[in-house]
Amino acid sequence: MSTEALKIETEIREPLISNIQRYSLQDGPGFRTTIFFKGCPLRCPWCHNPDTHSIEPEISYYFEKCIGCGRCAEGCSTGATYTEVKGQGSVLRYDRSKCSGCGKCAEACLSGARDIAGRKMPLKEIIREATADAMFFFNSGGGVTISGGDPMLFPDYTIELARLLKKEGLHVALETSAFGQWQHLERLLNYIDLFLIDIKTMDADKCKNVIKGDLKVILGNFEKLVEAGASVRARLPIIPGFNNSQSDYEAYTEYLSKFVGKIDAVDLLPFHSYGEKKYQLLGRMESYQFQNVHSLESKELKPFLIMLIEAGFISGQSLTVGGLIGVK
Ligand code: SF4
Ligand code: SF4
Repeated sequence: MSTEALKIETEIREPLISNIQRYSLQDGPGFRTTIFFKGCPLRCPWCHNPDTHSIEPEISYYFEKCIGCGRCAEGCSTGATYTEVKGQGSVLRYDRSKCSGCGKCAEACLSGARDIAGRKMPLKEIIREATADAMFFFNSGGGVTISGGDPMLFPDYTIELARLLKKEGLHVALETSAFGQWQHLERLLNYIDLFLIDIKTMDADKCKNVIKGDLKVILGNFEKLVEAGASVRARLPIIPGFNNSQSDYEAYTEYLSKFVGKIDAVDLLPFHSYGEKKYQLLGRMESYQFQNVHSLESKELKPFLIMLIEAGFISGQSLTVGGLIGVK
């Protein structure tokens, strides 16, 4: 891990929650409630959840809902939001560099133009929300998925949350890049029913230079989970221009073929551009490199699917497109 990521890992104990999504169908089997932590050690440029990158709270600004009333500026004590006289009237300005993420503007705004991304939530409140749909979980074979960002930035908190969810009798899945310390994943073996491990590339240089991770750590943890007998699904985001070439597919197939019958499945997750709006809301459009890149269609992955099927994976069982596992 990078020194910075390790520093974050050891210093931070309690994440902000960016979202709790109910009736999710793609984060494990059955109907699921997915809990998104805020904070990630990686920086995948295609990420469709940019609101989960930073561990800090941020303001999402829906310009189209703003009626220019100025209430947000009155509540802002840092001067990040202010009104500026222009001609006969005034215009609202927002300087993110001065914003502390206190959320007072969002509280003051009556039109829903401002929202705070990242809230503190007591564990018991998370458990209450997570158990609200328990009946649907049991009827559909579903449960709760802990996701992010990356929950492994907050190992102790993740372990405690998973332990409490298991105590409620729920199926618990963990979605992670596995870019963390093995000792934490090892402790989670007691409480996690299914590990969803993102393997974003097989190229160590791309991993280091593009997404800021260490492939050796990621694959090492993936292999140790499999060796430990955990239920594991390998999730492969397929990204145009990053990992969708013939040589990328060959490298993935060569590696994953060693795990046929040892992992639950490989899920191919074709790139989509649904996250673009979030970059706009967070004022980060200049950092989004996938503007005008078309979403991949399942049929474009056919050559890769064929390679994985030839390696021994079974379409619809140990191999999916989209990670849709199904409802009992
Ligand atoms: S979050 Fe706080 S500091 Fe930032 S603009 Fe709103 S009121 Fe100002
Ligand atoms: S309070 Fe909301 S609607 Fe009013 S100016 Fe601020 S963002 Fe716009």
